[in-house]
Order: sequence, then C-alpha cells, then structure tokens
Amino acid sequence: MAGEHHFKIVTLPGDGIGPEVVGAATQLLADVAERFQVSFEFIELLVGGISIDEHGSPLLPEVVEQCAQSDAVLLGAVGGPKWDTTDPDAPRPEQGLLGLRKGLELFANLRPVRVSDALIASSPLRDERIRGADLVVVRELTGGIYFGERGRNGDVAFDTCTYSVAEIDRIARVAFEAAEVRSKRVMSVDKANVLESSRLWRETVSSVGGEYPEISLDHMLVDNAAMQLVSRPADFDVIVTENMFGDILSDEAAMIAGSIGMLASASLGAGGPGLYEPVHGSAPDIAGKGLANPLATFGSVALMLRYSLGLEEAAAAVESAIDRVLERGLRTPDLATGADGEEEAGTEQMTAAVVAAMD
Ligand code: NAD
Repeated sequence: MAGEHHFKIVTLPGDGIGPEVVGAATQLLADVAERFQVSFEFIELLVGGISIDEHGSPLLPEVVEQCAQSDAVLLGAVGGPKWDTTDPDAPRPEQGLLGLRKGLELFANLRPVRVSDALIASSPLRDERIRGADLVVVRELTGGIYFGERGRNGDVAFDTCTYSVAEIDRIARVAFEAAEVRSKRVMSVDKANVLESSRLWRETVSSVGGEYPEISLDHMLVDNAAMQLVSRPADFDVIVTENMFGDILSDEAAMIAGSIGMLASASLGAGGPGLYEPVHGSAPDIAGKGLANPLATFGSVALMLRYSLGLEEAAAAVESAIDRVLERGLRTPDLATGADGEEEAGTEQMTAAVVAAMD
C-alpha cells in the first residue's frame, strides 16, 4: 500500500469511449495532484473486449491481483458490437466486470444523484420537484434474491431472497459512514410488512444505527420509496437497501439527473480498494469521435477521492468545478438542448474547462 500522500491507481479504460473518458480523468487527476500536494501512480491494464482481443479472456487473474494491491481502481466501460455473440461459450466483456466485483469482494454499490441547477431542464421531472436533490443510493451488491437458491419444478419456478445479519451489518455501516460526510440522514428501504428477510434487514440496520447516534435513521417501505423518490427527491440523503430494491430504485433515481452522461458510481468492499466507474456504457456510436461526455467519469473521480483516498476537499473541488462549467453553458452534445447561452464542447474542451474551473 502506498504512503499517505502517494496513491497507486489502476486504470482500466476498457472499450469504446472508455479510453477517452479515463484519459480525461487522468488529466483531471494530474491537476488534483498538483493542487492538493499528493501524487498518483497510474497503472493502466486491460479489461473487457480489448482484453479478449489480446488474451482471449475479458479479465486476467493478474489484473485482479494488481487491482487488489492498489489504492483504487478507475474503470471506463466495456463491451461493443465487436464482441456481441450468441455463442454461450464465447468470452464476453461484461464477465470482466463481474470478475472484478467478485475478485475485489465489492459488496456495496454507491450511486449518487446530484441535480446540477444548470441541467434541471434535462430531467423529465418538474423543476420544483427536483431542485436541490442530492442523494446517494447504497445498494447491497452480492446477496439477496439474485444470488439465492433458485430452481424449477415442472411449471413452478422459485428464487429465494436470503440475507444474514453479517451481510446487512456491513452494508449498513457503508451507508452510515457515507452519511457522516453528507447530511447525516439514512433512509433504510425494505418490505418489512411482508418479507421476513426485510424484517431482519430492519432490525439489523436499526441495531447498527445505534452505533451512529449523530446520524438520523428512518425506514420506508419500498413501494412508498418508489413514489417519494420522484415526488420529493430533495428530502433524501442516503438511501440504503438490498440488492433487487437497489437495482430498481437506483435506475429510478438516475432519471432525476436527466442524462446518463452525468452519473457516477462507486463499488466498495471490505477494506480493499474501491472500483469507480461511470454508469454509462461504451457508447460505440460515438467512440473515437472526441464527443464523449467525461463528467460521469469526473464524478466517479470525486467519489474515489472521497471514499478511497480520504481527500474530501479535492472531491468537493472537482464537484464544484463540474457545476461551474455547466453554469457557464458548456455542453457536450448529449447534454445540449439548443437553449440560448449553451456552447457545444467535445471531450477535450470539456476536460480543459473543468481543470481550469478547479481554481
Ligand atoms: P451506452 O450507455 O453505451 O449508450 C447509450 C446512449 O448514451 C448512446 O447513444 C451513447 O452515445 C450515449 N452515451 C453514453 N455515455 C455517454 C457519454 N459519456 N457521453 C455522451 N453520450 C453517451 O449503452 P448501450 O448503447 O446500451 O451499450 C453500449 C455497449 O456498452 C454495450 O456493449 C453494453 O453491453 C455496454 N455497457 C457497458 C457498461 C459498463 O461497462 N459498465 C454499462 C452499460 C452498457
């Protein structure tokens, strides 16, 4: 592990626009290093389709090993038409992502949704509903119904949702710790009026909450949470929930922000490095054209600075720089609405503007 001010970062650009947005992120990090007197060592490795082309596999074990020995991992995106196949035995780029999650034991997925005032018009929701929304969905990633016992008996099929106290305890701690550097409110979402696993979820989250007296904890049933999220999103701070509810609610929450080119994510594990990546895919339609919006990756860089490197001030500086550039009207094509005052920018111009706005 690196020293206090020196950080080893594995970059996994991947496919499509991945190399463009990760390249932009390393430029931003070079500026962060200078401004905040830290140093970053970048180790660039292969994942996804490009790794299939080079090695016949989307993720080599030595890549997982190098990631495990780093302070944080920054990923672009994987996949593209070149590797789409109906052959069930052919290697697939997404297996690289699943392999990383498994290999690094990433059990928590954090997806922040911040509505930048300048982009309010891009959301399908009404201005007065979403103004000021700034929340994060903390989703359990390795348990629950997606991983439980499943099967078929004739014309009957079943999937089982199983959670242990240990699994709930560790994700609850991620949520309370995230709330500590935010507005200190946790909303735990479950279906405790119906599901036994949800009753255990509620009991365990409440018990962990007792160890964080400065954080306020509330519980909400998932059906109500789905409604409240679109009717009063600005009232939420940290939402913590199990795997399937989190899968659905995090996509619902994504629509509050409007564009997929803006959404960042962090996957965290037990003590090892976190994996940071934009939510969007490899956008093969615009790859190599210099048009990719780097802001979701910059948001992921901010999360990396905050959660893995303990550089909160630098994280906040990156987020403010993104806001300032948007307020000035700069827009990559995916964000452009044609409104007065907008100025179109490619990846390079947007990156230079965010770096300049760090002042
Ligand atoms: P996508 O997110 O790649 O693209 C959807 C649309 O959004 C496209 O029109 C694209 O041009 C646009 N877009 C996405 N990110 C953008 C950005 N940063 N700037 C500007 N525009 C952007 O989703 P898709 O088209 O469904 O998938 C394309 C490939 O990406 C597929 O192979 C898919 O499997 C893969 N994928 C990977 C990930 C990942 O690596 N985490 C996630 C989703 C999809």
